[in-house]
Amino acid sequence: MTAATPGVLAEVRRERERQEARWGEQTLDPAVWLMVLGEEVGEANRAALEHRMGTRADLSHSRAELVQVAAVAVRAIEALDRQQASQVRRAQD
Ligand SMILES: [Mg+2]
Repeated sequence: MTAATPGVLAEVRRERERQEARWGEQTLDPAVWLMVLGEEVGEANRAALEHRMGTRADLSHSRAELVQVAAVAVRAIEALDRQQASQVRRAQD
């Protein structure tokens, strides 16, 4: 970790909360979350390409997209954990 890490993680948390406020609590399959994550990674790639090609001067859009990627990754991890816990419960029944 660096001195910047807590601030970045706080941004990811705020983005995670913003997404949930916008879309509600979503109980998607972990594989679907990976598709959503892939879409967000694509947007981050596009922002980086636009910067690289000179059609977007600043990096703030790339940064914002990366925060969205991280927030969606958190949701995917949470979905995976729920699925795993459900499998454990079913195995115990
Ligand atoms: Mg995005």
